Amino acid sequence: MKIRNPRSGAHDYEIAPFDANALAIRAGEMRDLQIGWSAYSPSQRCKIMLKFADAIERHREAIAHALILDTGRAAISHVEIDEVLGMITRCEGAAPFQIARASAKDRQTSIANISTSTQLVPYPLIGIISPWNFPLMLALMDAIPALAAGCSVIVKPSEITPRFIRPLMAAIADVEELPLTVIEGDGATGRAMIPLIDYLAFTGSVATGRVVAVAAATAFIPASLELGGKDPMIILASADPVVAAEIALRASVFNSGQASQSIERVYVARAIAEPFLVALVQQAKAVRFNYPDINSGDIGPLISVAQADIVQAQIDDARENGAHVLAGGQIETLGGGKYLRPTVLASVTPDMRVMAEETFGPVIPVTLFDSSDEAIRMANDGIYGLSAAVIAGSFKEAEVVGAQLNVGAVSINDGALTSIVWEAEKSSFGLSGLGASRMGESGLLRFFRKRAMIRQTGAALPLSAYGEGVGK
Ligand code: NAD
Repeated sequence: MKIRNPRSGAHDYEIAPFDANALAIRAGEMRDLQIGWSAYSPSQRCKIMLKFADAIERHREAIAHALILDTGRAAISHVEIDEVLGMITRCEGAAPFQIARASAKDRQTSIANISTSTQLVPYPLIGIISPWNFPLMLALMDAIPALAAGCSVIVKPSEITPRFIRPLMAAIADVEELPLTVIEGDGATGRAMIPLIDYLAFTGSVATGRVVAVAAATAFIPASLELGGKDPMIILASADPVVAAEIALRASVFNSGQASQSIERVYVARAIAEPFLVALVQQAKAVRFNYPDINSGDIGPLISVAQADIVQAQIDDARENGAHVLAGGQIETLGGGKYLRPTVLASVTPDMRVMAEETFGPVIPVTLFDSSDEAIRMANDGIYGLSAAVIAGSFKEAEVVGAQLNVGAVSINDGALTSIVWEAEKSSFGLSGLGASRMGESGLLRFFRKRAMIRQTGAALPLSAYGEGVGK
């Protein structure tokens, strides 16, 4: 399978997707490894995972080089590696304690002489299917807690960004005890993997999420689905319009808007709309591409050419239906890569595609409102419910509005904070996801089943205690 380079447009890399046979063999090997792995204590496992962090550090140059080719961006590729190292050290610090706390020791029940304790039993084999926007981070972010829980893990990253897999596997090979494998493949590989695993952690689009949810149900396994979003930002009249513009821009165009929690709709109070828009357009026009020098500028190319077509189609649809393009608006092909300057759209209406569908590009449609109730109603319109942001002059005012938004996380006086805060447990509302939170303690504990040990410390009751003659 030929893979496109997002900076040159050339199909200059090849993968050989795992077929069902190869997958079944690998899954069997991972199940065998899990037996020894789960016999280690949580802190022993975490210590071995620290060796994995060291191995990633040793292979950093090769992993970074591959990630840069996969994504067309340099600095964020290093950030991805740092984030993964941070996940491992955070896990080492927290997981043994969290597991011990959740494995409650002897507790008296409401029935005299009967006590109970809880054992946490890891799912043997976790399957992870991940997308292309942060290839390394999203391949490992569920894998790390799953490993700490005592599971084996098989990861199937996106076929759009697979170059990092081989150098990452080289780092994994340095830690022989680690029951982690990362395989090359496409949607068909992902589909073939689901019947072989015990728990699915999927990150991707709503469309694929629906398909894999059905496959997981058929395989009778639980699934955590982390899907798309159309995150709104509400800017109240008490906010500083220039600061709000800066936040809205960063939260919308970071990573060229290729982030699930990107701000994709901005609702601004009419009273401050003019200075806000002036500042936003000015700042948007100052954003530079990392082209031709990859180590310069602010944003990189659109990684997926198919997604680039969707982004352009949404902008064109908005324009044709009366939206005003105040900045950007046209994807540029530079050196074979697809780039889009931050695109600010005014006079948008809810029926436009850019207001209803996930864009996944640096596009900022701005709508004015007169009352916070109107803003809340518009922000709650739609099928998604991933996260949102509220900017106001006071936390109290912002939180009153935030509490009325149908989303799993609200950033207050900033945007897209869910991308940097790991401790904040959150659900995905609407079609943005299903299943246990990947954040906070739930991100770890979801990989366990619970076994109750229920002890009879007195005399067991005879059959006559349950007999039909009782009470006669
Ligand atoms: P996608 O749904 O097209 O693909 C995701 C993964 O699913 C890929 O690895 C793909 O090969 C695999 N896949 C495709 N069809 C499959 C099938 N039938 N069975 C099993 N696996 C299959 O998504 P994408 O375009 O790679 O990623 C972008 C999407 O991911 C966006 O919607 C974005 O919002 C979402 N995302 C969500 C989060 C989150 O935390 N909620 C984070 C990052 C990205």
